[in-house]
Amino acid sequence: MVNLLQFDRAGLGDLCEQLGEKRFRATQLSRWIHQRGEHDLAAMTDLAKSLRDKLAGSAVIEALPVASEQVAADGTIKWLFDVGAGDAVETVFIPEADRGTLCISSQAGCAVNCRFCATGHQGFSRNLSTAEIVAQLWHAEFELRRRLGLAPGERAITNVVMMGMGEPLQNYAALLPALRIMLDDHGYGLSRRRVTVSTSGVVPMIERLRDDCPVALAVSLHAPDDALRDELVPLNRKYPIAELLAACRSYLARAPRDFITLEYCMLDGVNDSPEQAGALLALVRGDGTAASGLACKINLIPFNPFPASGLRRSPPERVAAFAAVLQQGGIVTTVRKTRGDDIAAACGQLAGEVQDRTRVAERGVRAVPVRIERNVAKPVSRRGAGLPVARERSAS
Ligand code: SAH
Ligand code: SF4
Repeated sequence: MVNLLQFDRAGLGDLCEQLGEKRFRATQLSRWIHQRGEHDLAAMTDLAKSLRDKLAGSAVIEALPVASEQVAADGTIKWLFDVGAGDAVETVFIPEADRGTLCISSQAGCAVNCRFCATGHQGFSRNLSTAEIVAQLWHAEFELRRRLGLAPGERAITNVVMMGMGEPLQNYAALLPALRIMLDDHGYGLSRRRVTVSTSGVVPMIERLRDDCPVALAVSLHAPDDALRDELVPLNRKYPIAELLAACRSYLARAPRDFITLEYCMLDGVNDSPEQAGALLALVRGDGTAASGLACKINLIPFNPFPASGLRRSPPERVAAFAAVLQQGGIVTTVRKTRGDDIAAACGQLAGEVQDRTRVAERGVRAVPVRIERNVAKPVSRRGAGLPVARERSAS
């Protein structure tokens, strides 16, 4: 049995052909599934009976089992979906006056292992399939339409952000058809500007995405220099900042917006000093170097703590001072409002329930043990280095 949520329209067309039916049936199928939320093949009355009969024996349209649902005081909803074998992933709906945003997971766990991220902290279990990525949207959209009593054709979800659990560009093969379903006029019909892929910086895959399906791009930068970024986002050791910014510049040629969003998680005493704001400003303006810099907006995310991170959120005045340096330097900078934190649905708090098959903890490369001294989080030691800026600040 195949799950039809697995296929974009080209894939559905191939399936129809394999069954000896016309490719254009894929359009009808897609409309039933993604525009009407139908899961019962028998109910698709305008679909050729021959196709329905053939599909009945070989295909299903199947949602993921909901393990739990939580609703926050601000209306944010977090679903935990069971993806089998002890793994579960989280999906978050964020309602706002003029939009409804769904934050979708791409992997159970994550192999990138960023210091400040609950998902990274638990290690990597496995990639989600296209069906498992799309099932999050399918469930949320049609469940919300029912609850909100929306008229046919009215949408609950207007924006999708690939900012849930996992690194979407390390699951590119499954991501790409999922994005195509989101954008398809016979699918969810979302514009490229309203679908955002967020990445910790998988440089070759940024280039692939530019060529295959250029949606809005957000890049998780978090540090103005390689020494610190190596510690916070270990993938930086493979793809350092200069290469990452070059990939972003080349992405802009086909991006739906004329800027890249840079995300920067504000960690107390680690990456939040005015000097670091200045260094970030110089970096994105390309000061002192030829042919560099980047057309960007910067989104400062107050760190959302989770047990065992050993890190602290920057105080609001420090975030404001950091933002001011960037704004005065001419860079559009916003501070992200934290939503749903009473149900641990905020950025970086998604943990699901993941069987840690990477056993990072045992291998000792996961969260570096952290000592808190005078409000400064310091790694005990890794490669003898530690967080350079934490040292600098504790000395001041
Ligand atoms: N793997 C992708 C997308 C998922 S994480 C990425 O890293 O971009 C989505 C965003 O949440 C990223 O910008 C990430 O850096 C940020 N984030 C992770 N942990 C966080 C935390 N504890 N507090 C605030 N933001 C966090
Ligand atoms: Fe993975 Fe993104 Fe978390 Fe880093 S921040 S560990 S890339 S999910």
